Amino acid sequence: MLTLACALWQTGDSLKRIVTTATAADIWDTIFSPSWIFIGSLCVHFSLTYTQRARIVSSPFTILLLYGPGIVFLSLYQMHYYEHIIQYFPFFGWVNFHNKNIIDVVQIYWVTVQVLVSLVLLFIHTFKIKNDKLLKKQSYFITIGMTIPIVTGVVAEVIIPTLFHRPAIPVTSTSMSLLSFATVMALKRYKLFTVSELINNETLIETLPIILISVSEQKRITYINKTGIETLGLIKKDISAINMNQLFLYKSKEDEMAFAKICERTIKYMQVENFESALITPNGKIDIILSSAPIINNNKVQGILFAVRDITELKKTHELIKKKEELLEDAQQISHVGSWEWNIRANTVQWSDEQYRIYGYEPGERSPFEIWSGEVPDEEQKIIKNIFQKACFDHKPVSCYHKILRPNGAEAIVHVHGKVTVDENNNAIRITGTTQDITELKQKEEMLQKQNEELQKINSELDKFVYSVSHDLRAPLTSMLGIIEITGEETKDPFVTDHLNLLKTSILKLDQFILDILNYSRNARQEVKKDEINFCDLLNGMIENLKYINNAHKVDVRVQVRNGALFCSDKSRVSIILNNLIANAIRYSNPDNNNPYVEIIVDITDREANIIVADNGIGIDNNLHDKIFEMFYRVSESSKGSGLGLYIAKEALKKLNGTITVESEKGKGSSFKISIPNS
Ligand code: ADP
Repeated sequence: MLTLACALWQTGDSLKRIVTTATAADIWDTIFSPSWIFIGSLCVHFSLTYTQRARIVSSPFTILLLYGPGIVFLSLYQMHYYEHIIQYFPFFGWVNFHNKNIIDVVQIYWVTVQVLVSLVLLFIHTFKIKNDKLLKKQSYFITIGMTIPIVTGVVAEVIIPTLFHRPAIPVTSTSMSLLSFATVMALKRYKLFTVSELINNETLIETLPIILISVSEQKRITYINKTGIETLGLIKKDISAINMNQLFLYKSKEDEMAFAKICERTIKYMQVENFESALITPNGKIDIILSSAPIINNNKVQGILFAVRDITELKKTHELIKKKEELLEDAQQISHVGSWEWNIRANTVQWSDEQYRIYGYEPGERSPFEIWSGEVPDEEQKIIKNIFQKACFDHKPVSCYHKILRPNGAEAIVHVHGKVTVDENNNAIRITGTTQDITELKQKEEMLQKQNEELQKINSELDKFVYSVSHDLRAPLTSMLGIIEITGEETKDPFVTDHLNLLKTSILKLDQFILDILNYSRNARQEVKKDEINFCDLLNGMIENLKYINNAHKVDVRVQVRNGALFCSDKSRVSIILNNLIANAIRYSNPDNNNPYVEIIVDITDREANIIVADNGIGIDNNLHDKIFEMFYRVSESSKGSGLGLYIAKEALKKLNGTITVESEKGKGSSFKISIPNS
């Protein structure tokens, strides 16, 4: 803009000179007046921008201050608010006098002050540039390019007419235009406009995140950049006294020698070398990679230049990755799981070491494709290819089993899992996955299946055996009870009746024992069923059947069913549990108690049935509460049963996912609480 304004000013001046009348000169002068009225504002604007005072330039206030007065002056000038004094001089032609009207004078001084301010700004900036030679050169060019026309212009067109009342010498526009063009051309000529040239300068070297050190042949430091000084915590003026060796933290003597050799080789053979080492810094040790190159001047090596890069973080990350890779490798080896990746686009496959071992090969021995097509049976290959093709299409995970015929003739079975990765267009680009050697697992599974089948056979035989034995055993007992009954009716002899009663008790006990064993065997083998249970019916029938127990008629059995919901569970197991608890409550009633009772409370909810079987019988000692649930445990020899009842009840509850607890006090009574889930 500034150059354009100069050019316009020059054009206006030229046109003014070639016209013949004062009026025509005034017209050209008025048309081109914006170029010289705003020249000062443009100068300051340029200087502010060039000296990087962007914040000031961008403020609307600055813009108003810069261009506001110019607009006012321009308006007054264009309106011919005051007379334009234009006189003819033989050499310069028509010249404008600006010394008659006060507004005109102020306007000229306004422009003068602005151009001088812009010069001051440029000078300050130029002197401030220290390290950057190229930038300083550029700044000098511009400052000189502006100073010459400005100084001559101020003298010729301001001081001479306004102070000495002599006609102005109209050369400013010409010199300003010429020098302005010359400056632009000079800057271009020396490539001072292009950034690529500036990249090579010292500022960049100083601030590069690499430590740059140059040393003499004796390894004394001759230069170190800002990053180096800061990282190593050095003081600039002490640098020349430091020997390069003092900076290093050698791991061993060999390390030190290796570095010395590198320096030697760099100097001797003028070659670039790389070396890994460590440096001491105020913040501790840093790992570095160093490259050295000879500094050559007039074909003679003057020293070595080192470029040092901090690789502490890189090394840490590298070690971490290595450790993780080792861990993964170990994990794959231990678990016999290999991993693979199929790059669909490039059609390349990568295998982990364990993947090779699963196929019976050493890592990298042959290409994965060759191994796969050689060791997997043909008919299985077809199936697997189909599965993978489908996965490429629907992007769903892959899961399949296949056989491997290893080169040593052994057969293996593997389980393959894979995951499809898609690109932004939803095309499958990669499938990654694992291969697990499940040969051993499969063998064990087959063995277990065989054993299971055998066990099932034995179980069903045992079941049949227990059933027929108990059935066959119980049948003669029933006949014996019948005979005892008939004999009892036929005899009046109290002695015989007593013996018959004893015999009957023993037979009933034996019958109960057989029934307990039968229940135990059923509970252990039979599957859990789901039946709808009506507790009222179930308990009433049960109590009716328990009447044969000695003294049962003396015990008051009360039943309370709080029916909250429909209850489903395995009816036969629930019957065994309740039957045992109620029979015990009757059996172990207190003979000294006048009102023996058994209270059964059933509370049904959607989730479970909570049942309490409480009695005021003989009770159980506190420390025996856990023991009574053990197999064949009886509190005393006088106990009437086999010691199996509570054990079977607990086992049956286990099958139903239920629980049983007891609260009892000797002499006072017992309370058994059971909880059965509602299925
Ligand atoms: P048994 O067939 O001997 O009754 P159980 O396993 O049913 O075997 O019971 C174990 C022992 O717990 C019994 O011998 C008895 O001494 C005691 N017992 C069980 N229920 C009660 C009860 N309601 N009152 C007092 N003692 C009981």
